[in-house]
Amino acid sequence: MNMQPYLTPMRRFAGELFAGAQLSPANKNQVVQVFDVDSTLTADPYGPMPVITGKDHYFDLARDFPANEAVADLARMLHSKGDAIAIATARPAERLQETIDWLRRNNIPADQVILSTGKEPSGIAKQAMLQKLQDDYKLVGTLFDDSPFNIEGARLQGVDAVHLRTNQDYWDAHPEKVYKLTR
Ligand SMILES: [Mg+2]
Repeated sequence: MNMQPYLTPMRRFAGELFAGAQLSPANKNQVVQVFDVDSTLTADPYGPMPVITGKDHYFDLARDFPANEAVADLARMLHSKGDAIAIATARPAERLQETIDWLRRNNIPADQVILSTGKEPSGIAKQAMLQKLQDDYKLVGTLFDDSPFNIEGARLQGVDAVHLRTNQDYWDAHPEKVYKLTR
């Protein structure tokens, strides 16, 4: 299957808490499935990792991380049955192009790629992304994410979620306060 048409930015958009690109037209008759990137679609590489000096260092390294093929296959399967795929990440908005490049290299379909402006922690910012997707599509199906705070944010927006426990030690060490984002 040629995924290329889904990975060429058509239109940039920005809100207070997010910014991103529309890669194919949003369709009010379509269900959208939402995938986080880091530790959800990406897998930590095998073997020794360098000492991570900060989030930017991690994101730099993640350009070369492999895909978690089980999760990537799920996105491909849902897309091939007709659902839209949105990528929702707390990565900073400046990392849009490299995120699209990584998705393309790994043949992961994407109709929208949404990143954070960094004004709020991800548990809040992702709620704003889910609200945007609720406006764009018929229904937001499921959020796939490794952050328990993003899972809680999805619950507060009435969105089902699948929690991947790939990164629990990190989240235990970096708790976030989650409250319901109202419109
Ligand atoms: Mg993640």
